[in-house]
Amino acid sequence: MLNFKSYYVQKDAILYKKGTNILTYLSDSKCQIVTRHGLFMLILTRFNPSPKNKTIGDSVLDWKSITPDSHYQKELKKIFFALGLLVAVMLLSRASITFYTIKITHYASVHTILEVMAIVVSVMVFLSSWLSYKKEQARHFIFFGSAFFGTALLDLFHTLSYQGMPDFLTPSTPEKAIAFWLFARIFALCGIGLFVLLPKRPLHYAQWSLLVVLLSVTLIARIIFFHPDWLPQTFIAGQGLTPFKIYCEYSLTAAYFALALICLNRIRYAPSDTLVYLFGACCIAALSELFFTFYTDVTDLYNLFGHQYKVIAYSFIFRGIFIEQYLLPYIQLSETQESLRRSEKRLSSALKNLDARVKKRTQELESAKLKAEEAALAKSNFLSNMSHEIRTPINSILGMAYLALDSLPETATKQRDYVQKIHYSGEHLLSVVNDILDFSKIEAGKMALNPHAFSFEPFTENLYSLFSESMAKKGLDFKIDVDRLIPDCVHGDELRIQQVLINFISNAHKFTEQGGEVMLKIHLLSETAQDCTLKFTVTDSGIGSSDAEQDALFQPFQQADNSITRKYGGTGLGLAICKQVTDLMAGDIGIDSQKGCGSVFWITLTLAKPDKHCLEVSVIDNPDNLNVLNGARILLVEDNPFNQQVASELLKKQSAIVTIAKCVF
Ligand code: ADP
Repeated sequence: MLNFKSYYVQKDAILYKKGTNILTYLSDSKCQIVTRHGLFMLILTRFNPSPKNKTIGDSVLDWKSITPDSHYQKELKKIFFALGLLVAVMLLSRASITFYTIKITHYASVHTILEVMAIVVSVMVFLSSWLSYKKEQARHFIFFGSAFFGTALLDLFHTLSYQGMPDFLTPSTPEKAIAFWLFARIFALCGIGLFVLLPKRPLHYAQWSLLVVLLSVTLIARIIFFHPDWLPQTFIAGQGLTPFKIYCEYSLTAAYFALALICLNRIRYAPSDTLVYLFGACCIAALSELFFTFYTDVTDLYNLFGHQYKVIAYSFIFRGIFIEQYLLPYIQLSETQESLRRSEKRLSSALKNLDARVKKRTQELESAKLKAEEAALAKSNFLSNMSHEIRTPINSILGMAYLALDSLPETATKQRDYVQKIHYSGEHLLSVVNDILDFSKIEAGKMALNPHAFSFEPFTENLYSLFSESMAKKGLDFKIDVDRLIPDCVHGDELRIQQVLINFISNAHKFTEQGGEVMLKIHLLSETAQDCTLKFTVTDSGIGSSDAEQDALFQPFQQADNSITRKYGGTGLGLAICKQVTDLMAGDIGIDSQKGCGSVFWITLTLAKPDKHCLEVSVIDNPDNLNVLNGARILLVEDNPFNQQVASELLKKQSAIVTIAKCVF
């Protein structure tokens, strides 16, 4: 079992005590995978906490990305191989005696070419850091960049002051070039060191490091150009390097190796190709510094090899920083963009397809809807025609039954009973057919209002005479209460309002048990000069209905529950017709009820106040008024011969002179 030693992850405020069982810790912190690499990553969060990917408690460490055989190991192997080669070359060069004696002609130009390569890399590193320092995570990188900018400047001065170059500010000497060289190496060393050792945290004011570097370079250049005697001697013409210079080179070599070891150590815990190449660069730079301890003349082969090794070291920096940090991510980004573009194309073509399919489906649905509507209309038309066709013979049946009843002597009780039942059944059938006719008429959009001026007195009298007898028969108390404030005359469809109220009252009659009461109340809600809003309520003390039942009552074919049909009969169309008729009159309809506590059905209507007074229409619905027909000449317009017979016989019974209009079609 793995145990923590004394690792401490400060940023995440998690303290791992010596001996803590890793499995216990990881299960506590809900991390899923326990690997040695995982543990290393955990420890490294101390040095390298990334703000977005750091909290172990939230399990955000990307454990899966830590694979033992990743790319960096292969790169590391290659670097070790290259280092082996370079060390072998170095040892061979030391073993060869001729090496000391070879001098290079036109060395200054070769040197310039090699230095320019290193300077270009330094400037690129600086530019990369400067362009990315605004990104929180890359702020520490500016130290590296700034230091390398200083290195580039110092290397430039070094190149310009090199022996064999034209004078720059002061005469070119090996002494000056070496001084610039040493300072340039110190800057490069600091840059790499800060990059490797500093945590990847956003560092505020990091960009000021560039100013510090520029000031330092200015000071150093001033001293080397104008006061070279202030610095210790590094080169004696004819003798070669002084011990000071050689020890400086050794120190640089040691420092580069130390940095290489730190890189290697960090690679083990936080593998990255950048660190691998920086490791290579440090090793080769160390070898390069070693070469510089060997030469006696600035134009000999050791000096050239030293510079070449330096260029190789810089090419590793270029690879590690520029290519790894910028070019590869950029290429990956471009590839991702390309694949995104391809996906987008596929998506848009799929969308187009979908669009076409949706359009086709919508068209199909629309035509299906049209067909369904046409079928519904045809059905309603058929029903309305059929209801009309049924109503005519029913009227004949009712009329004939009435006539038969009238002609039967009181003694023929059995026959009278039969005929009375025919009459009753006919009336019931007619009411059902009337409902169906109205409903299909409304559905087919054929129901039209017929508003006219009317008064409430005959209106309520009519309702009373319609129901008083049946109410009394059932033992129900029936009352009509009309508000005195209601205008004498209003403008509206009297018949339709009556139809709604008849439906309410007959339901109240149907659903109220003996001894109960039913009341129609008409009262004024509001009034203006032009119109008045009235509320018509029918209250009963019947069975009532629950809230759930009430929701469906105004839907066609709905009854409170199926037992109602069995017990009370009915079609479930009445209230639906009431609602549609009320909607047609721009009114409101509703119910207030509780199960077992009676119901209040109501409508509110806004009716105009007519300019003229209501016409007195004499309605012969009272047997006492029938004598007005005595001797009256009446033109009977009825196409059905049975109904003609019924009507003319009824009228003739009242001594009216009846003429039947002839049907010409
Ligand atoms: P029908 O009475 O022909 O069944 P309606 O549309 O007039 O059709 O009524 C629908 C249902 O509403 C009735 O079956 C009944 O359940 C309920 N209902 C109507 N009026 C009342 C009332 N006054 N009291 C209790 N329930 C009623």
